[in-house]
Amino acid sequence: MKKERAIIIKDPRLRRIRNEFRNLLQSWTSKVRSDLQDKAFVYIENHEDDKLREINIKVSNLDIMEEKSIILCPDCGRRDQDMVYVPTIPSTNEWNVPNPYATYTHEWICMDCNSKRVHIADLREEILTGMTMMDIEEFLDRLSGGEGVGLSRSGWKCNGYEESERILFEMGIEKDTQGKFLELCGHYGGYCDCEILLNA
Ligand SMILES: [Zn+2]
Ligand SMILES: [Zn+2]
Repeated sequence: MKKERAIIIKDPRLRRIRNEFRNLLQSWTSKVRSDLQDKAFVYIENHEDDKLREINIKVSNLDIMEEKSIILCPDCGRRDQDMVYVPTIPSTNEWNVPNPYATYTHEWICMDCNSKRVHIADLREEILTGMTMMDIEEFLDRLSGGEGVGLSRSGWKCNGYEESERILFEMGIEKDTQGKFLELCGHYGGYCDCEILLNA
């Protein structure tokens, strides 16, 4: 499968049947996994390193298979959702230009997580039309310097996004791009000026 596609089952009875099959496959996987782990313990006790290595490879292949399968969303862990197939996208395109959609390596994820993924990818692309990478680095430099939150000094002066907004404004970044940029910072775990710095 190369293309992104969703499999949506609306009928509640069919959804139940589908979820039952997913549960079946899940119990099969955990049975196989625990059998392998039992064997691994024996090999550890007997110091049979080669056999242990083989078992460990099998277990990790099983984990990868489950994570990439349609039976669960690796992002939120839910097993009862309609799923979308997202092909793995290389991190740069054929001209070696970074691909904004590339952070994704899972295969089947749920509709909700996929909308979030698409939204974040769009956000990154839109931000880069209003800000260059140099702008972003200048922003981080100014935020961390004396005129920003001054993390190195004792007594932080943090007022949410106040400093970030002021610096972006002074840099002449458009209001629309500012908002998107701060939303993306929030997504990466920066919910105020100092968290942006700590997580950037
Ligand atoms: Zn999900
Ligand atoms: Zn803060």
